[in-house]
Amino acid sequence: MNTLNVRGVGDKFITVLKDIFFPAQCLGCGSEGEFVCKECFKTLDCSGVFCCPICHIETRGGGYCVACKQSYIDRHVAIAFYKESELVGKILHAFKYQYIEDIKNILEKIIKDFLDKYNVEVDIIIPVPLHKRRYVERGFNQSDIIAGIVGNMLDIPVENILKRDRHTKQQAKLKRNQRLENLKDAFILKKDVYVRGKKILLIDDVFTTGSTIQECAKVFKKAGVKEVVGFSVARG
Ligand SMILES: [Zn+2]
Ligand SMILES: [Zn+2]
Repeated sequence: MNTLNVRGVGDKFITVLKDIFFPAQCLGCGSEGEFVCKECFKTLDCSGVFCCPICHIETRGGGYCVACKQSYIDRHVAIAFYKESELVGKILHAFKYQYIEDIKNILEKIIKDFLDKYNVEVDIIIPVPLHKRRYVERGFNQSDIIAGIVGNMLDIPVENILKRDRHTKQQAKLKRNQRLENLKDAFILKKDVYVRGKKILLIDDVFTTGSTIQECAKVFKKAGVKEVVGFSVARG
């Protein structure tokens, strides 16, 4: 077990050891002390990304542009633009591969910053599920944690009612058309779930081509969901 995999605030002893052997370094400027120092945090633009879910052109509320055919999610909202080499990308990368409480706290700040300005009106929040095999490897689902943070802040229930039906290849390694094929019918609703007429917020950490969220939304639309809003911390 890697000592950086500190889970829960209760694990003080490991936290202390971690601070001695691996002092936190700012992901932005490298200064010691915090994973994101106050100065670097100020450089984050959390004003929101509202773009067409298909072609990425800026639209009102993240809805479809006139040129793109609407599909399963009704619109998409992200907090920041994603660039791997920039701070948001580094935060999300660190969060995905090493669950560190301090990084979760940074995400909480970013999400709060955004939700203070942006009003979300939905009935349920649903995280995009991670496949079991990957969940075992990683020990947590980053979308689950983001959904929990958003749910807490908005006082909206988070429900894990979506599951992966089969193992899929890692999306990042595939081309766009392969991605769609790879995910076809990969998600199903758990038994006895009633979502007809509801508005849902579907959460994934990063939105790139949107094929994962679209495939999840398809399941909900077929089950009679009224509106599906895609939400992610960053959008590529
Ligand atoms: Zn810094
Ligand atoms: Zn478009």
